[in-house]
Amino acid sequence: MQRILITGANRGLGLEFATQLLARGAHVVATCRDPAKANALNHLAAAHPGRLHVLPLDVSQPATIDELVRETALVFDGLDTLINNAGVLVPGERFGSLDVQTMEHTFRVNAVGPVLVTQACADLLRRGTTPKVANVSSQLGSIGHCGSFGTPSYSISKAALNMGMVQLAHALEPDGIPVLLLHPGWARTDMGGPNAQVDPAVAVAGMLREIDALTLKTSGRFRDWQGHDLPW
Ligand code: NDP
Repeated sequence: MQRILITGANRGLGLEFATQLLARGAHVVATCRDPAKANALNHLAAAHPGRLHVLPLDVSQPATIDELVRETALVFDGLDTLINNAGVLVPGERFGSLDVQTMEHTFRVNAVGPVLVTQACADLLRRGTTPKVANVSSQLGSIGHCGSFGTPSYSISKAALNMGMVQLAHALEPDGIPVLLLHPGWARTDMGGPNAQVDPAVAVAGMLREIDALTLKTSGRFRDWQGHDLPW
């Protein structure tokens, strides 16, 4: 029985991760900022009694991270996969009017949050069976791919997430815990928008293939949903 924790699971790719992992028979802790309003997730929980636990988490608030880990330890005695999926993109930033609030908040959610969530889950992961950490990063955080100005706070934060997770890949290697960075493609979610090319179910199925194949040998890599390595 796989025990999996997914952040930002009330909509978009996080909800799709929860759906596909439950279909595989996994036990899932799915987090969201406001469980009372997470209708789709609560319906999924009702359809999978005892296998889906919906818990609150705002990754920008360290106190909620500590509380999440305490609550998770009550339902799981070890964690097999942590999926850091929650993320934020503030559209419409312009050079000349960049502001500290947007930059700091985006950095806190997309880069600092996943690093702190992973650190807080480390003991549970050490008690897991072939434990793994997967992170939904973005090609927009690839410095090698950056050919124009756009989504600066988001791109800076995802580049920082990539470095943060390569750091954690080294920190967790002695415990046998590999860490992966994933790009889901341009996926049709609230963030990706209606014109995005990739169906969320296809994006998540592809990312799960990469997570399944993840070992210490491939720890610290940055890959897309089709298994291609991406430049940093
Ligand atoms: P959505 O906007 O559809 O969903 C984002 C999720 O993150 C929501 O569950 C949201 O919760 C949650 N979230 C936002 N801020 C916080 C916070 N402070 N604490 C906890 N949860 C938070 O986006 P996607 O599903 O498309 O994105 C999922 C991941 O994939 C993100 O990391 C994103 O950067 C990445 N990605 C997406 C791409 C795409 O094309 N869609 C492309 C590349 C990467 P709430 O409902 O409360 O806001």
